Amino acid sequence: YELSHKDIRHIMNETVTLLEAQALLHNIEMELNTGEEPLWIRGVENQLKQVFINVVKNAIEAMIDGGRIRIQCFRQGDQITVRIEDCGPGIPDEQMAKIGQPFYTTKEKGTGLGLMVSYKIVDNHQGSIHVTSSLGEGTTFEIVLPYCEPAA
Ligand code: ADP
Ligand code: MG
Repeated sequence: YELSHKDIRHIMNETVTLLEAQALLHNIEMELNTGEEPLWIRGVENQLKQVFINVVKNAIEAMIDGGRIRIQCFRQGDQITVRIEDCGPGIPDEQMAKIGQPFYTTKEKGTGLGLMVSYKIVDNHQGSIHVTSSLGEGTTFEIVLPYCEPAA
């Protein structure tokens, strides 16, 4: 595992580039907002990219009527937050406790592993994932990671 200092903005830029075509195919526009300051974290780049891909893909797959996905990356003190907001159908209360459990999926061809892996990776990075959802309005995933500036 290649543990190094990374600017989360670069990882998210690459994620958005990777998923742009799939989003357009679903009539979805992705809006990325990162600000001017480097957002340093220490971690395994490919693993974190996998987390972002998982969560953004879920957002794309949820928005069957198209629309906009808003992605924000920002720093608050010693924390970096990556917020991914969709306007999909939302997650019903009774499903909320199940997402992230192995093999829990509501999709015909889903694996139900994406979020489980994502929770594990973020946990290994001393971070956390928070989900809020409101039926008929959308779902917001927040991935919070420790801010970690490289030594000068
Ligand atoms: P999969 O995508 O293979 O179903 P995941 O672990 O990525 O597996 O997601 C598990 C389940 O969580 C999904 O099947 C879906 O029901 C729910 N889910 C995840 N993200 C969203 C979202 N943005 N909007 C609505 N439901 C979601
Ligand atoms: Mg998934």
